[in-house]
Amino acid sequence: MSLLARRLSSWGKLGELLLFPSSCQICEALLEKPGEKVVCRYCLEKLKGTDSPFCLCCGRFFDGAGGPHLCADCLGSRPPFTRHRSAARYNGVAKDLILLYKYRGFEVLSGVLAGFLIRSLGREEDLWSGVEVVVPVPLYPAKEKSRGFNQARLLAERLAKLMNVPLMAGRLTKVRPTAAQTSLRAQERENNLKGAFQVKKTPGLEGKIVLLVDDVYTTGSTIRECVKALNKAGVKEVRAVTVAQA
Ligand SMILES: [Zn+2]
Ligand SMILES: [Zn+2]
Repeated sequence: MSLLARRLSSWGKLGELLLFPSSCQICEALLEKPGEKVVCRYCLEKLKGTDSPFCLCCGRFFDGAGGPHLCADCLGSRPPFTRHRSAARYNGVAKDLILLYKYRGFEVLSGVLAGFLIRSLGREEDLWSGVEVVVPVPLYPAKEKSRGFNQARLLAERLAKLMNVPLMAGRLTKVRPTAAQTSLRAQERENNLKGAFQVKKTPGLEGKIVLLVDDVYTTGSTIRECVKALNKAGVKEVRAVTVAQA
């Protein structure tokens, strides 16, 4: 790419960040109420958590009614984290917002999504209490460069601020690129990510209770691989939160 083309594309990106669209990117209604950015209030009101029962350990939502309990997988063998929770299922407005945030570059939505996470899960004491550091799931550096930002990092930054707990980004790193998880089956996903994450050897994480943050939870293999790397680095415990679960 020529220098001029590169400049133009970075200006384009800048323009996108500075000038918000004038209509809701979900329903196309005009954004005219104060504070409305990217998505209208009416659409945001439809962003709700789920009442579905969930696994007390891995956070997997169950279909149907009933209370929280352990899923068959966690009864068989516990994952390397103590607890994971998603705020919503990956559909409807939650999905629309995540797609706008992640792939259309509307970074401002990190605030909406982090706020939603706290509103939905904030009362679950055993998820938040004692957390000493917040860590985002990293992207491979080249991927982060092409996307312009790491969606998990911005969410983690917002959560850390809301929780008044330090953010530790850049310590857990992704050391090799991996194939898109969506194109793979569960077992392939597991292999695809093996050894893809590492923790840089600098002090600060040992013995800590860590909250790991990502945007979407699918099979959980990304979270599990990150937790393995964190556990190897000597953390005391890892809990995880995601905005939505596919
Ligand atoms: Zn709307
Ligand atoms: Zn489970």
